[in-house]
Amino acid sequence: MRRVNDYQNKKVLILGFARSGLGAAKLLLKLGAQVIISDNKNLQADEAAKELMKQGVIFTQVQTAELIKDIDLLVKNPGITYENPVVKAALAKPISVITEVELGAKVFEGELIAITGSNGKTTTTTLITKLLAQERKIGEAKYAGNIGIPVSEVAPTLTHNDTLVTEVSSFQLMGTHDFHPHYAVLNNIFASHLDYHKTRANYVAAKMRITINQDQNDFFIVNWDSSELRALAKQSKAQVIPFSRCGNATTGAYVKDDVMYWQNEKIMTTSEMGIPGDHNVENALAAIAVAKLHGRSNEMIAQVLRSFSGVRHRTQFVLEANKRQFYNDSKATDIEATQMALKGFNRPVVLIAGGLDRGDTYERLEADLKQHVKAVVLCGETKAIFARSAKKAGIEKIEFADDIQAAVTKAYALTTPGDIVLLSPAAASWDQYPSFEVRGDLYIEAIEKLTGKKEV
Ligand code: ADP
Repeated sequence: MRRVNDYQNKKVLILGFARSGLGAAKLLLKLGAQVIISDNKNLQADEAAKELMKQGVIFTQVQTAELIKDIDLLVKNPGITYENPVVKAALAKPISVITEVELGAKVFEGELIAITGSNGKTTTTTLITKLLAQERKIGEAKYAGNIGIPVSEVAPTLTHNDTLVTEVSSFQLMGTHDFHPHYAVLNNIFASHLDYHKTRANYVAAKMRITINQDQNDFFIVNWDSSELRALAKQSKAQVIPFSRCGNATTGAYVKDDVMYWQNEKIMTTSEMGIPGDHNVENALAAIAVAKLHGRSNEMIAQVLRSFSGVRHRTQFVLEANKRQFYNDSKATDIEATQMALKGFNRPVVLIAGGLDRGDTYERLEADLKQHVKAVVLCGETKAIFARSAKKAGIEKIEFADDIQAAVTKAYALTTPGDIVLLSPAAASWDQYPSFEVRGDLYIEAIEKLTGKKEV
């Protein structure tokens, strides 16, 4: 860990005490800062909070502008918007407002890699970490960030020999100033999070912060199939490395006639990939680019891409039993994600869907239902509205289930050998389950019980 003096005896306010707030607080204490944590929950009985209190951290439920009176720095939870009165007051003063990613990256001495995009961040981050963990002469490769483990928690455990692969969201990037990855990946930009960023231009600008501090010794790995991204790449001072599923980037990683290449080296065919779908080919191309820039062997890369069964809950291959394959895409909490998952299959799908009703209708999904789905089993609040679209798409077998376990049994009964059973709800889980993770775990458990086999 690099000893930085920037925070010595500084008074730092952490706004929002989730896992990232805890990581930031622990790191700041190590760096000699005085820490105050503001959260609207009462944390007096929280074990982690109690531990910090023993070390002098002050907790408050106050969430007004007076908090910033004698503060030197504000570390805010990425989900808190810039409309928040405390954040507004800090910026007006001005007091620097950062996210914990900035803090963690500051103390990291090794090679920093960062991945952003609207979709595919976690998959690409996981793949890059797996590839860079192989054929190393020294050190290790770890991931952190938006993937679920704060950068400020992982960075202090690593040395200058290690590689830190960070998944960074636009919210996190907004709170960075000196963040300087040696390799930055930009997967794609779809219009999203407009509630937070207000305009698409703001969202794009937040994403582009990933390369803002890069120079000619660094690499900016960009999806070349998007004209918008190609134009944005011109803003980067780094060496731009393109990747393209449509054969547009022969100087980088690309697909030609269903084969993935790095420049003129053949890596493998797309059909050999362990995870389905064009979107995953794009994620793999980005990962191949980073691995090849590190001199990794084509054989090892192909081996890792073949055996990778996906990130848990993201079109994850669960197991095969009686010639039926089961996939878990519980993370698909909107229509676009389910659409993407369905497009990845060229065998008949029995789809399990439904969940929290946010007033969405499912017309946008009808073409994909028609093309890929032979039967649906629906649960949750959206079941009736989803059933209407399934019917319009011409699906004859539409069944309902009370919970995910019952849905698995019903779905299996609708299959014949060669079929896919896919949970891809196109809705959030909160009508019935505390999180998409719990929903996915219960799904896997039910499959294991039904088939007597274990998840791969
Ligand atoms: P993120 O971390 O950005 O949310 P994930 O890797 O967790 O992305 O994937 C979440 C979902 O997004 C997947 O289940 C899939 O439906 C979709 N997805 C993944 N990669 C891509 C991509 N490259 N382009 C478009 N959609 C994608």
